[in-house]
Amino acid sequence: MLSGILVFLCLLFGITGSVYSQSPRLVENGKIDLSSYNFQQNSPVLLEGNWEFYWEQLLSPSEIRSFDKTQHREFSKSWNSGNQYSAMGYATYRTTVYISKNSGPLALSVPDFYSSYLLYVNNQVVSRNGMVGTSKEDYTPHWLPSTFALGDIDSDSLVIVLQISNFDHSKGGAYYPIKLGSTEKLFNERAIEYGYAFVLTGALLMGGLFFFGLYLFGRHETTILYFSLFCIIYSYRIIGFGSYPLHFLLPNLPWIVTLKLEYITLFLSGYIFGMYTLNLYPRESSKKLIYLLSGISLLFIGITLLFPPSFFTQLVTPYFAILVSYILYAFYVYIRAVVNDSPGAKYALISTGSVFFVFLYEILAYFGFTERTLLLNFSGYLFFFFFQSLILSFRFANSLKLAKERAEESSIAKSQFLSTMSHEIRTPLNAVIGLSGLLSESKLNDQQKEYSKIINQSGENLLGIINNILDYSKIESGKLELADIDFNIRAAVEQVLDLISSTNKNPDLELLYSVDDSVPDFVIGDSNRVQQVLINLLSNALKFTESGEIYISVNMIPDESEGIRLEFKVKDTGIGIAEDQMHRLFQSFSQVDPSSTRKYGGTGLGLVISKKLVEAMGGSISVLSNENVGSTFSFSIKVEKSQIISDLESSNIFKGKSVFILDDNQTNLEILKSQLAKAGIKTTTYDKPKDLINDIEKLDSFDFGILDMQMPEITGVQVAAEIQKKWTKAELPLVLLSSIHNEEVEKYKDLFHLHLNKPIKHTALLRNLERIYQPNHKKGIKKYVSNYQGNSFKEGLSILIVEDNLINQKVLVRILDKLDLKADIANNGLEALKLNRSKKYDLIFMDMEMPEMDGIDATKQLLSSKNDQEKPTIIAITANARIEDKELCLSVGMKDFLSKPVTTEIIKKTLIKWFPAS
Ligand code: ADP
Repeated sequence: MLSGILVFLCLLFGITGSVYSQSPRLVENGKIDLSSYNFQQNSPVLLEGNWEFYWEQLLSPSEIRSFDKTQHREFSKSWNSGNQYSAMGYATYRTTVYISKNSGPLALSVPDFYSSYLLYVNNQVVSRNGMVGTSKEDYTPHWLPSTFALGDIDSDSLVIVLQISNFDHSKGGAYYPIKLGSTEKLFNERAIEYGYAFVLTGALLMGGLFFFGLYLFGRHETTILYFSLFCIIYSYRIIGFGSYPLHFLLPNLPWIVTLKLEYITLFLSGYIFGMYTLNLYPRESSKKLIYLLSGISLLFIGITLLFPPSFFTQLVTPYFAILVSYILYAFYVYIRAVVNDSPGAKYALISTGSVFFVFLYEILAYFGFTERTLLLNFSGYLFFFFFQSLILSFRFANSLKLAKERAEESSIAKSQFLSTMSHEIRTPLNAVIGLSGLLSESKLNDQQKEYSKIINQSGENLLGIINNILDYSKIESGKLELADIDFNIRAAVEQVLDLISSTNKNPDLELLYSVDDSVPDFVIGDSNRVQQVLINLLSNALKFTESGEIYISVNMIPDESEGIRLEFKVKDTGIGIAEDQMHRLFQSFSQVDPSSTRKYGGTGLGLVISKKLVEAMGGSISVLSNENVGSTFSFSIKVEKSQIISDLESSNIFKGKSVFILDDNQTNLEILKSQLAKAGIKTTTYDKPKDLINDIEKLDSFDFGILDMQMPEITGVQVAAEIQKKWTKAELPLVLLSSIHNEEVEKYKDLFHLHLNKPIKHTALLRNLERIYQPNHKKGIKKYVSNYQGNSFKEGLSILIVEDNLINQKVLVRILDKLDLKADIANNGLEALKLNRSKKYDLIFMDMEMPEMDGIDATKQLLSSKNDQEKPTIIAITANARIEDKELCLSVGMKDFLSKPVTTEIIKKTLIKWFPAS
């Protein structure tokens, strides 16, 4: 058992010692007879046993011959063991080996003998380490195990004389036997031994450096740091100890340096291994115990650094006990970690298990049950380090996974926070915008009007900011999902223009647009996102352009791939952007000129969001700009071909018709011309009213005429009056184009058949012109044209408002009141169900979040019982503004989704959309 533990401890100390087998016989009384031993076929022999021993004498071979007082002593036993002699001193050993004359080439392997030695074979000095001497002053210690050839021996005996001196180490004398064998076998043995050691050192050093790099450039995990240091330090021990391959590489290394390094690395690897275990499994390890063991290790390092070898070399024996405790304790920790299912614990157990297996095997070899092999020893180490590194890789991967999960959680929390924030802000904002809107339309003096306008505008700005931030966070978190639906490009652009033109109060600014003929009516893509980008670019253009025009054009660009590539351009004649400021565009929260924020408002997010949206749609966005001339923002997107074709384009009602157009704006003339040409209408254009008046006689050749209202000198109204002097309204229908609102043009309704607002929208233009020819055209309109909006809604609608917030109830009631509508109020879903039982509602405005019963549940129940005819039209009005919320509302059967705040304009449009006046 004791010897088992000894072997075990030898292994702990990294002794990769040579392969040996049991000697065929021992040296007895300084003699050993190997004359019948075949060295070339059999393993080398360890010259163990009782050698002649001359204490405190350094004798040369010739001096011994005359000596008669011979003593004997076991060779592999240090001087001070058994307290027979002292560790410090000097002595000579001698043995005679009888061999056969034809033993072949022989060699000796000599270990180091703690300090210095001189070796003679048959009177010749064959090897030495340092210088032997009889006092500390005249001796030099050195360590370098060596294997050297004796050559062919022309004698039947080898007389081996070994002088050893030691005045430094706490152990003196020989501790490991000299080995005699065939030159080939001994040299092979050493080469293999060094080979394994160098490979193992290289592997550990590289592994250690790799983990060190991981620590430095990674997340600074101390476990990884400890493991990397353990590998690096241990890599030194493999070559700086045992058979000392390092000393073989660097033979002139000072003895004291290698000695100190050997001891320091021993204590340090114990210390680091303890800290590594503690960091790896803090729950399973006892901090106190590991700190105690580590403290002792550090103390021993200190002693090694400060004290002479005679003292610190004595520390090895007590340190045995510490190391054993370390290893056994680590094994216990790993078992606990496996029980607790800690990450990588199984690898840790396998790792120590593999080392224990090697120990066991070594013990069995020691007792002669198996052969000891270097390969097994080598594999044991390799397994140990490999599995330890697996634990770290496992933990590293695990911590990355955890970090990812945490990031995902925090991103969910972030978007949750944002949507709650947006919800909470929208609710009061609904009141601010709604009521200030109503206020500004009531009887107020100029100053009060101005104030309420500012409140309303600020509310709108705030709303824009909230929307932008919501979008931005959605795009940033990669949650942007694009819809794939058939949509009408012209209608989509027109809707945007509708929205923007309603905010354009500037009479000096014309809004124009054209969609190239090559662009199909319908494509598959995400119309909402396209519109969002257009709205961003258009509102910027509007914001930064005082006068002139804003022109949107849509073109198709050839694309090699299957789909279609559309290019949108938004060109303005505004302030432009200076060359050196261009780089600030498309960056988060960046505005070209921060002072412009004060003047124009904005968050600096519009362009970033547009860029990300466009990129998500497979395209890119760019800008060309000249300061004080204007800017053109262009973006392209990829869309798919749609199977739907427009019914208007394919109808023949306009084929062959001819029309004259009068407009002083050339761009506008071109646009109109191409729009009409697309429907098969021939056009003649005039840019000067006078020219047209001159042609007045010939005008009956035209089917109808289009006149622009605002022109210098003579207005469209005046021209129309002139025409009507000659041709009646029925003979020559006239269409008025203007940027002003319907009420004002009412005055001229006798002159014109139709009044169209600028910008002229392709579908609306054709749809309206259709009326000139087919008064009952609406019957034939297919579903997609539901985009088309008249100007009024059905009267006498019965409406229910389901809303828990008192102010929001009031805002909506007021808005409806303005539109001459009355509504009932339910404070939550349950009340709505109750009211709905006793009265039939045409329209229900439904809030989403309410106490007792929310809007979703209420809608489900409201729609479940009745047949299709009786089902009310339910429209969500909610402070939840996410696409998911909209989808949820529509999925339970709501018809539309309005996010708060709502304005009179929005409610009116919605009513027109769902309840158009027939
Ligand atoms: P903001 O909400 O501040 O308008 P954007 O990202 O939409 O944010 O625009 C960033 C900046 O780019 C604007 O503040 C403005 O300085 C500049 N910019 C954008 N469009 C135009 C334009 N059409 N003409 C001049 N400057 C523009």
